[in-house]
Amino acid sequence: MLLKLSELVLRDLERLAWIEALDTGKPITTARNDIKVLARYFEYYGGAADKVLGDVIPFEPGYSVKVVREPHGVTAHIIPWNYPVQMLGRSIAPALAMGNACVVKPAEDASLSSLEVAVLALEAGFPAGALNVVTGWGAQAGAALSAHPGVNYISFTGSPRVGALVQQAAALNSVPVCLELGGKSPQLVFADADLDRAATTVVKAITQNTGQTCSAGSRVLVERSIFDSFMRKVAAGFEQLRIGVPEEDADLGPVINARQRQTVERYVAQAEQDGIALLGRAPLRDELRKQGHFVAPAVFGPVPADHPLAQEEVFGPVLAALVFDTEDEAVALANNTPYGLAAGIWTRDGDRFARLANRLVTGQCFINCYGAGGGVELPFGGTKRSGHGREKGLLALDEMSTTKTIVHFHG
Ligand code: NAD
Repeated sequence: MLLKLSELVLRDLERLAWIEALDTGKPITTARNDIKVLARYFEYYGGAADKVLGDVIPFEPGYSVKVVREPHGVTAHIIPWNYPVQMLGRSIAPALAMGNACVVKPAEDASLSSLEVAVLALEAGFPAGALNVVTGWGAQAGAALSAHPGVNYISFTGSPRVGALVQQAAALNSVPVCLELGGKSPQLVFADADLDRAATTVVKAITQNTGQTCSAGSRVLVERSIFDSFMRKVAAGFEQLRIGVPEEDADLGPVINARQRQTVERYVAQAEQDGIALLGRAPLRDELRKQGHFVAPAVFGPVPADHPLAQEEVFGPVLAALVFDTEDEAVALANNTPYGLAAGIWTRDGDRFARLANRLVTGQCFINCYGAGGGVELPFGGTKRSGHGREKGLLALDEMSTTKTIVHFHG
């Protein structure tokens, strides 16, 4: 049924992409890509569903012991608005593969694609009740779902503040929770790196989806000897970005709503007020300023390590550049936020990237690349305030199931 659902999503790709683009403001090419990723989630976990094995455990003479995987039962999935269908697929595909019945609470700003996918699930043959979508405000529908005694597992993707509320509600029912929260992910750039490739990736990692990506590369830490020259390349990248409505298919669209725009503008205003140099900014047409929640991507630096722009998640296209002298200092800066979701290392020195990959406190570490969440196949999730639990890859099948140990005495 998951494989069939994957086919149906691809059949309806164009319609689903426009629904997603119009609901979120994404450029249409980005929305099309999101729908392809959704199909890939259903394909990947549909393919995995009949390959989940148990264990046989050697025990005392006369006993046979096996461990089998079982579904949690009813799983709740509270998802955000930044990548509505990608988050939906990431969460429900492994849950359905393991035999759970899912109740989804999409974000109030972007519920349409979840509803469409639920209709397609019926066409794919899922029985009524296997995939349910409950729309509504977070504080009402989301809170009710988190506290519901009939729910056996909760997957939450969103802000740390709401994640804590969900975990508290789940604790009262002794229900396990997977929390995918925010990040302040660093990219470490050393003088010996391929600086052109690094600069292009650094720009993309903070501006794709208008910076509304939990694993956005929102900090770039640059070795002092190349700070000015490297940041000129990054600034040039910002200045070339095109911003527009979905049908213009620009590099980025608006942020999701007025509140998010105000948040981004507040961080930018604070950086300017505190005298941090603006290194580059994308041009934003006047008519866009007036017509929607558009913000101009901007890069500031050097940003002091304790400044809010270097510590807090903006969730918009604003990059904080920091400077370091030594490898130790780079590691200390990289680990010096409450978060630990993703990190990038740019160097040609193999010993150095091996050392750094060990020392960075992060759920994913990219070397001479940056995946902003990586592929469907790659386990993903946070450390520290970025959350706990793992999604994506085969590990998600463990996350979305529990075990039963069966002990048989036969003499
Ligand atoms: P949010 O936490 O306000 O909302 C997320 C979801 O939770 C929505 O569906 C919302 O309706 C629901 N919700 C709100 N209040 C609730 C409550 N009291 N009880 C239960 N559910 C409730 O987050 P947001 O502002 O919509 O999204 C942005 C945040 O999400 C950012 O911090 C971002 O980093 C994070 N995020 C993380 C990931 C990840 O994979 N780690 C992915 C996307 C977004």
